[in-house]
Amino acid sequence: MESLEGKRGLPRIKPPFPATHGLYNKPTVVNNIETLANLPYIVGRGPEWFASIGSPPKSTGTRVFCVSGHVKQPGNYEVPMGVTFRELIYEHAGGMRSDKPLKAFIPGGASAPFLTPSHLDVKLDFESVAAAGSMLGSGGVTVMEEGTDMVWAALRLMEFFYHESCGKCSPCREGSSWLVQTMRRIVAKRGQMQDLETLVDLCKNIEGRTVCAFGDASVAPIMSTLKHWRPEYVTLIQEAESANLIKLEPAGVRH
Ligand code: SF4
Repeated sequence: MESLEGKRGLPRIKPPFPATHGLYNKPTVVNNIETLANLPYIVGRGPEWFASIGSPPKSTGTRVFCVSGHVKQPGNYEVPMGVTFRELIYEHAGGMRSDKPLKAFIPGGASAPFLTPSHLDVKLDFESVAAAGSMLGSGGVTVMEEGTDMVWAALRLMEFFYHESCGKCSPCREGSSWLVQTMRRIVAKRGQMQDLETLVDLCKNIEGRTVCAFGDASVAPIMSTLKHWRPEYVTLIQEAESANLIKLEPAGVRH
């Protein structure tokens, strides 16, 4: 019988997975169009042919990567799995749009932790990107140039996750709200150093404690920007603290 969650379209606890209990409680194939588009070629030319492309043993074949952001030629590029981010960004997507160097990139959609220029030679395969601390995810590669405000970027992504949370489980529903509030305070230069601990605490109380993977995904932008660009958070908070000190200082002793 279909669950209440299924009727409402809310995520349900897995297992069982759709492969055994999917639509009408029957075994169901759930694949995106990119995967299905490969099937005629695999059937026609054989699985060995497909497996010979890419980065065996696990990341074989080609993949469509959607490159967006501060590159000269944003677009969808189908490349063999295993090419490097450097090749994708600088050869296929034409490189950076201006003379500003690369600052950051998201390797696989909003759910994937940010990577840095030191990861440019990481291969675009599942294993290599995971070893670098992120994931290939949807294949959406967002490129950001030097000068991008990483705290603001993390806030924009967090606002997306807050908006998209279905609200079924408390850590995701309440946690995403608190994360957005805290991030907005920091970006508006009203934050405190304590907020950084609060952010990490909130993320840890969401990750691994939700019904679906959305909760885990939602903490990636904040956790990865705190890991790679923590000084940007600290600068915003220090500016907030300085502004508060000036306000508190009696008019007569200002210099
Ligand atoms: S993690 Fe978020 S999106 Fe997933 S079921 Fe819980 S509230 Fe809904």
